Amino acid sequence: MNIFTESVLKQQSDPTNSDPYFFSGKSLNDSDRTQLLFDIKMSSSTTVFPATDGRRYSSKWEEKFPWLRYSIQKDAAFCINCLAFCNYKDGDVFTDKGFNDWKNATGSKRGVLLSHNESKTHKQATNKTINYKQIVNKKEKDTCFYLKKL
Ligand SMILES: [Zn+2]
Repeated sequence: MNIFTESVLKQQSDPTNSDPYFFSGKSLNDSDRTQLLFDIKMSSSTTVFPATDGRRYSSKWEEKFPWLRYSIQKDAAFCINCLAFCNYKDGDVFTDKGFNDWKNATGSKRGVLLSHNESKTHKQATNKTINYKQIVNKKEKDTCFYLKKL
């Protein structure tokens, strides 16, 4: 069983494991990474997110920032790329506490999402994510190719 299949099975057996908060504050193995990065988006546009001071999470943000994932458990958002590739810092907004300052999420001056997107550590994590996804996808293809030949 490869890590992709394994993680899909794990996910089906325990849906709460898909919450990005589950991956914060621990060192991840490849199975965790695959589950986190290949997970079907939790934040569907039909979900009604809870409001804080009249503001709430918007799944539209994920169109511009595909690394963003909403955590139902925390009512906060995390960066899956940074979670997957060890930029974990105690108290960090996108890998530990979770981001929930909805008021400042977007906007040209104080857009927190944009500034995270442009940060050096995030860009490094994103490069690692892209490489990792390519490797996993290639493995999947090779496995299918091999199985067809049997
Ligand atoms: Zn990030």
